Amino acid sequence: MEKPRVLYWFRTDLRLHDSPALKAALDLDPAVLWPIFTWDPHYVYRSKVGVNRWQYLLDCQNDLSDSIKKLNPKSKLFVVREAPQTVLLKLFWAWKVTHLVFERDTDTYARERDRVVVESARKAGVEVVTRYGRTLWDIDDVVAKHGGKPTMSITQLQAAGNKVGAIPKPIPSPKHLPDPGEMPVDFEHDRPDTERDLNAPLRSKTDKTYNSVAGPKGDFAIETLEELGFSAATTPHRGGETIALEKLAQIIADQEYTATFQKPKTNPTAFEPQATTLLSPLLHFGALSPRLFYWRVQEVVEKYGKNASHPPESLTGQLLFRDMYFAAQAAIGSPFPQALNNAHVRFIPWHLPSKVDDGTETGTNAISGEYHIDSPQAEKWFQRWKFGVTGFPFVDALMRQLRVEGWIHHLGRHMVACFLTRGGCYVHWERGADVFEELLIDHEVACNAGNWQWLSCTAFYSQYYRCYSPVAFGQKWDKNGDFIRKWVPELKDMDAKFIYEPWKASKSALDKAGVKIEGDGLGGGMEQGTSTYPGPMFDFGERRSACIAAMKTAYSIGLHGNDERVRNSTWKEL
Ligand code: FAD
Repeated sequence: MEKPRVLYWFRTDLRLHDSPALKAALDLDPAVLWPIFTWDPHYVYRSKVGVNRWQYLLDCQNDLSDSIKKLNPKSKLFVVREAPQTVLLKLFWAWKVTHLVFERDTDTYARERDRVVVESARKAGVEVVTRYGRTLWDIDDVVAKHGGKPTMSITQLQAAGNKVGAIPKPIPSPKHLPDPGEMPVDFEHDRPDTERDLNAPLRSKTDKTYNSVAGPKGDFAIETLEELGFSAATTPHRGGETIALEKLAQIIADQEYTATFQKPKTNPTAFEPQATTLLSPLLHFGALSPRLFYWRVQEVVEKYGKNASHPPESLTGQLLFRDMYFAAQAAIGSPFPQALNNAHVRFIPWHLPSKVDDGTETGTNAISGEYHIDSPQAEKWFQRWKFGVTGFPFVDALMRQLRVEGWIHHLGRHMVACFLTRGGCYVHWERGADVFEELLIDHEVACNAGNWQWLSCTAFYSQYYRCYSPVAFGQKWDKNGDFIRKWVPELKDMDAKFIYEPWKASKSALDKAGVKIEGDGLGGGMEQGTSTYPGPMFDFGERRSACIAAMKTAYSIGLHGNDERVRNSTWKEL
């Protein structure tokens, strides 16, 4: 019998170490193996991927490709420039593929995409092999052990995980990779059977775009930012498996940090270095295996003894949160990242601001007219939040760090998410999640939506009366305001006494610092070096009380996203 011809489809696993799917592919003892990555228009057009996350993806792809070449100079990561739903069936025929192997992905879009691909593999007689590898446990098993319900707390996740069994130990990287086979892209010519229609336009040899599936040079090259139409990324954070393993080794080498890590005690204003691991984007792209991370930490914890920290605050506890959100998403499916139709998310009639310039007023605060503000006002607050010109220096510093670096500390995310939603602006959490989706280098659908639900007290957490103060919370960590001085250079010379509340400074203190409090910041207030800084966009104390009262009313009414009145929009009449 002829040996298998394996197409290995890299997606959420841009690494060679601890990859159960790659191991399964190699266990087939293939005659040839093509390591491919397919472009996916969903992530480009549906998702809002900013330049920093693109750069991070390219870093991971390039590093993986180099590692593949080291194992077999004839191979590399071959980037196929077409959507998997249409291109894979063509490759099955043209390359005479016998097996397709990939790591399972439980994101809603990915499940549907993979269903289409598996169906086309079935049509082409290609055997599909999948393994889980993106999380600590197999997320589908976790959901099954939790009775098909979403895990809405860490204890639920732990209980379900324990029923699934021990978290698997990492497996070693391969020592060798097979050669790739021939890679013709003359699909029309090679297509063996017109009955097996692909439902997609095929390219002919005379067509100028004939080779575009393999890139302009026909060599399946990894795309560049320039080709994608981006200018340079601004993030200093770089991706790739090599960096991931180095960073993990450095963290583990500091046994005390690793063993005693307590998330609530890590400083959100720390920079160079930051207080937490910054492994999240590496986990997102699969450049780092979560199980390798887990077990390396666990070994240190076990040696450290009784003074080691425990979940949920410990480092392994952080990975449990990640699995919790993945399992919640897997159980809820497509309504997970939204309020509408989501039975597990409280419905709060936030301001649903329309764009200021189109003039329409959508969304009023129907529950409590008392706290009503017109929606163009809320939209303006949203824009000022998004661009880091709220006039609250701590919020602005965080939002500017996010825009430039693509990452902010977890408690910084708490601060800005609470401020936008239930602790300040009363703007819908989905608007904030959209901004994070564009700007984060670690954007993960499950973790982003889940954490926004947590912070807006619409799911996972309900203590809406506990709000983050943009003044006191920052001061707790950074009295001198060094973090603000770095990210809001307009205030770099401000007396520490006023750096969190520059509007309270006397004229002489402002003059001394060379600062003018003026405008709303939207007309270019973000320009570096300017000495003009906006005044606060509202009285925080007043807004906090207003939001808490509105949340209290909304909680007492108790609507959820799947409530009939929400789906029919009759909640507006409540
Ligand atoms: P560490 O503290 O070093 O934790 C180690 C790892 O555990 C992280 O790399 C991450 O994979 C995981 N982790 C830690 N905290 C959480 C958490 N609360 N939820 C899920 N996983 C966690 N995380 C993302 O990975 N992608 C997102 O899109 C995302 N969006 C968020 C949005 C909001 C509003 C908030 C409040 C949090 C969000 N988080 C998200 C969770 C968390 O902030 C980041 O995972 C963490 O800050 C990443 O930094 P780190 O790697 O240094 O974390």
